Amino acid sequence: MTNPMDLCKNLTVNKEGHLCFGGQDTAALASEYGTPLYLMDEDRVRENMRVYTHAMQNYFPAGSKALYASKANSFKQMYRIAAEEGMGVDVVSCGEMYTAMQAGFDLSQAYFHSNNKTDSDIAYGIEHGIGFFVADGTDEVDAIERIAAQHGIRQKILLRITPGIDCHTYEAVNTGLVDSKFGTAIETGQAMELVRQTLLQPHVELMGFHCHVGSMVFGEDVFLRTADVMLHFVADVNQNCGYMAQILDLGGGYGVRYVESDPKADISASLKELAETITSICRQLNIAQPAIRMEPGRSIVADAGLTLYTVGSVKQIPGYRNYVSIDGGMGDNPRYALYGSKYTVYAAQRMNEECTFTCSLVGRCCESGDVIQPNIQLPEGIHRGDSIAVCTTGAYNYSMASNYNRIPRPAIVMLRGGSSYVAVRRETIADVAALDE
Ligand SMILES: *Cc1c(COP(=O)(O)O)cnc(C)c1O
Repeated sequence: MTNPMDLCKNLTVNKEGHLCFGGQDTAALASEYGTPLYLMDEDRVRENMRVYTHAMQNYFPAGSKALYASKANSFKQMYRIAAEEGMGVDVVSCGEMYTAMQAGFDLSQAYFHSNNKTDSDIAYGIEHGIGFFVADGTDEVDAIERIAAQHGIRQKILLRITPGIDCHTYEAVNTGLVDSKFGTAIETGQAMELVRQTLLQPHVELMGFHCHVGSMVFGEDVFLRTADVMLHFVADVNQNCGYMAQILDLGGGYGVRYVESDPKADISASLKELAETITSICRQLNIAQPAIRMEPGRSIVADAGLTLYTVGSVKQIPGYRNYVSIDGGMGDNPRYALYGSKYTVYAAQRMNEECTFTCSLVGRCCESGDVIQPNIQLPEGIHRGDSIAVCTTGAYNYSMASNYNRIPRPAIVMLRGGSSYVAVRRETIADVAALDE
């Protein structure tokens, strides 16, 4: 029998054979709040955040800071927790910025990303006192200059640079290559030219550089190589333009474990090694150490999330395949449909039973691609009414959820110190039709 604690230590099994998450019985949570249900273990979120805030304080140069990449899971309570834990945030749209503001988050600690901010995005950010824009290229620097001038301010920015690093992750989340929709490349000389132009803009204050090489990064040396390329760029800029970056933002992307065969990342140890590498490269290059930013998303929230479903129908097609249908699906978790992502699935109230029934876990949408996970093992005799838990769903599930088939999105219930509370209420069918005239 596999031990769910091997996946993440917040998963345990009680004496009734029920899966517990954050120490709480998932059966009790399912009956209290209904399914499908997103659970978020707040204690685990905070623990994950502290790995970064601790490293920033203890290993990295003065003024370094960790930012929560809020696109991984964006709702008001996440911004409150980030603020309480001393993290800044990344936002990628006015919607995320608005959510942060509604939560009382200090926008001076927010960084606005995206490869295409519209003029109205930029104006909205400036009007609400966004701390930084991370400008993707020339068009954006020009737009920020123009709109900052209209507002009579000088806007702090970072420039997003593509270091040309292949992080050997999935193509859809590999973003640091020269051939990418994101950022401006060092290799082609365009990045240096962009710095030159930016330094001429009176209403834009260049604070430093940003890069983000991808997501689900496990490769030991990816961040070290990235830091090396970026610090050489910082030194080159210093020489060619007489401009010394104050901030170097190395992006997000540390991997998490969706299944037991995924590697175990020791993020704290990796960050320590990264900090030491930065110090030694800066010494070699004879430059001052810039303050570092890191932008973890997935590694903050993924293993703090778990989705509970209820089985509807079980269909066996002899000689073909077995299907177990649940009361959610690609609407609340599109990641298998999008990327073929792996997940660990449990029959949450039958944890002590042998799992010998091979089946595909599918959703309720009218779409054959509505699969949560193919070829999983569940107990024989799994039937209507049984609970299913899909683990590690805290990142890019709720934030990517849709109302396909006009199915309302689940509630988010947070678990904290043995108690639970609703952080996002369950959508109703009236909510789904609320905008229709
Ligand atoms: C998505 C993203 C992140 C977070 O990536 P994770 O893989 O979730 O850690 C950080 N920075 C930028 C610019 C991003 O686009």
